[in-house]
Amino acid sequence: MRSAWVWIAGMGALLMAPAAMARVCAVSIDSTDQMTFSSREIKLAADCSEVNLTLRHTGKLAATAMGHNWVLTRTADYQAVAMVGMRGTLADSYVPKADPRVLAHTKVIGGGQSTTLRFPTTLLRKGGDYTFFCSFPGHFAMMKGKLTFG
Ligand code: ZN
Repeated sequence: MRSAWVWIAGMGALLMAPAAMARVCAVSIDSTDQMTFSSREIKLAADCSEVNLTLRHTGKLAATAMGHNWVLTRTADYQAVAMVGMRGTLADSYVPKADPRVLAHTKVIGGGQSTTLRFPTTLLRKGGDYTFFCSFPGHFAMMKGKLTFG
């Protein structure tokens, strides 16, 4: 009987291994009617394989007046992407379409809403320099922060 239990425990460990390697890291960030994010820095641990990001808008203003999204680019690309994005539309979340500089982004939300985004960290290089920002017209200068991986 004893050896049977050991075998079952061993099988369990083998089955668990792939799940343990795929680590989903949860990140949540709030945005406000005062055109701010609640964090200026997001640190992802080196063993995160995926990011599950939740953006909340804790204000009351509509998406058309004070909409917010969360866009991730390399820091070198962020201003250029923000400039193109602000010439876009709310339907496009003020994000340039099919632009490889946009690593990940949420849709634009208004007060009281939230949205979730999941992306793999294979998009990111360890030690790379990344900036997250809101691409709603006029927001990127105030609503931005640094993202680090590893
Ligand atoms: Zn915004």
